[in-house]
Amino acid sequence: MKSYKLWIDGAWVSGSGRKRLKIENPATGEIIASTVDANREDVDKAVAAAHTAFYDGRWSRLTPAERSLALWRLGDLLEKRMEKFARAESDNTGKPYAFVSLGADLPFCVDNLRFFATAARDTHGYSSGEYAKGFTSIYRREPVGVVGSVAPWNYPLMMAIWKLGPALAAGCTIVLKPAPTTPITTLMLAELANEAGIPPGVINVVTGGNDTGQALVEHPDVRMVSLTGSTGTGKRIMKTAADTLKRVHLELGGKAPFIVFDDADVDALAGSAVIGSTFNTGQDCTAATRVYVQQKQYNHALEAIVEGMRAVKIGGQYDDGVQMGPLISATQRERVRGYIERAKSAGAKIVTGGGSPKDLDNGYFVEPTVIVDADQKSEIIQSEVFGPVLTISTFKDDDEAVSLGNDVLYGLAASVWTRDVGRAMRVARDLEFGTVWINEHIPLASETPHGGFKQSGFGKDLSAEAVSDYKITKHVMIKNG
Ligand code: NAD
Repeated sequence: MKSYKLWIDGAWVSGSGRKRLKIENPATGEIIASTVDANREDVDKAVAAAHTAFYDGRWSRLTPAERSLALWRLGDLLEKRMEKFARAESDNTGKPYAFVSLGADLPFCVDNLRFFATAARDTHGYSSGEYAKGFTSIYRREPVGVVGSVAPWNYPLMMAIWKLGPALAAGCTIVLKPAPTTPITTLMLAELANEAGIPPGVINVVTGGNDTGQALVEHPDVRMVSLTGSTGTGKRIMKTAADTLKRVHLELGGKAPFIVFDDADVDALAGSAVIGSTFNTGQDCTAATRVYVQQKQYNHALEAIVEGMRAVKIGGQYDDGVQMGPLISATQRERVRGYIERAKSAGAKIVTGGGSPKDLDNGYFVEPTVIVDADQKSEIIQSEVFGPVLTISTFKDDDEAVSLGNDVLYGLAASVWTRDVGRAMRVARDLEFGTVWINEHIPLASETPHGGFKQSGFGKDLSAEAVSDYKITKHVMIKNG
């Protein structure tokens, strides 16, 4: 069992307290490692390292080309160590190894780093000129400063990269706090950054729970806080950050509608609904969770999706052909079971799933679950479950589809399934979501902005917009002559 320290100022540092956190493999319940439960003193040390590294200019005053090269080297090193990182990620999250390694997570992480390396050199869109008679104005796009980032457990390494990639590309330094359950690959990445030539103090990692995150958000030397987490945590962080007027960047929960019109190819889209709701065991903020089918196709869609959900192969990380792993923890499994039970009590019907596979009782598994007859105002439609659970409901026309789709507090992602281009464009316009897919659900690219509307937060991860979010504009005005 490996015992991890904190990563501060380019070195492993013991925590100042005695408290440690046990790290589990959620597919087996086995304890695989332990990490420091960092206290305020540890957070102070990490912020001090990031603060010095920012103000002495070892990173912020490099040229964009130099920063870009270092991020590119980090991407190359991660690509070389892909297998090691994939195993660590898979063992810490229970995700199928095949998905983490070549299938999805790791290659995308490498691509994200290469994208941010490229975006570090983007100078698009800023000009200078004479706007007042006799004066020349120059706009300097400067890094915000020390960033405190707080991450969730669903894609631990990818979330760390979505935080540090744009922050470092902009010239900021960072203190990252991974989720208490999934800190391992974030610590490994910080160590790898040394090898890539990213100077000490630029990336610091403090492990711990919510109190560690709270200390980071409160710290007066942190200029900006970026969080990927639940909407409740986002609200708490925003309130805390108000005391020191920090910039906040919040990627929060989701409850994506998957809207199927009568003219859509139901047999083809059923597979996307199944993948969209079971990928990463539904622990995805863009997961397809609310399927709305226009009346004529309802029975056909229900049958096809239920058949697909029943065929999903559940198992441990290294089992042959496994398509879905466990939830992250016993707590998360209880949360998901609670939602399913309360949906039943509220009068909804479980068509398939709802329980846990009998032969996998050591890990935190839940079967892919389809629920029908749920009221639009009920908890199962309105709240983020973060498990492999979807509801299927019906609608009459375009207006009702948009109205049901928008009728939640969240606004992260949605999909629309139709062959009619005009209808697709109208519905995409009217849906209040940060991403709207047409005839697909889930894919993202490093270039595409990812972020929410409404209570899914604000600020973008990925894309050049993300780098811009970590910069601040300074106006320098020069008197001519
Ligand atoms: P969470 O909100 O419980 O925790 C997220 C992180 O915040 C953890 O590291 C936690 O320790 C920390 N934290 C909690 N309270 C804090 C506080 N008061 N101050 C500072 N830090 C605090 O979320 P989770 O359960 O780890 O992750 C699941 C959630 O993340 C879901 O709601 C999901 O939708 C969301 N998510 C959003 C996106 C997105 O891009 N929008 C992506 C992935 C996950």
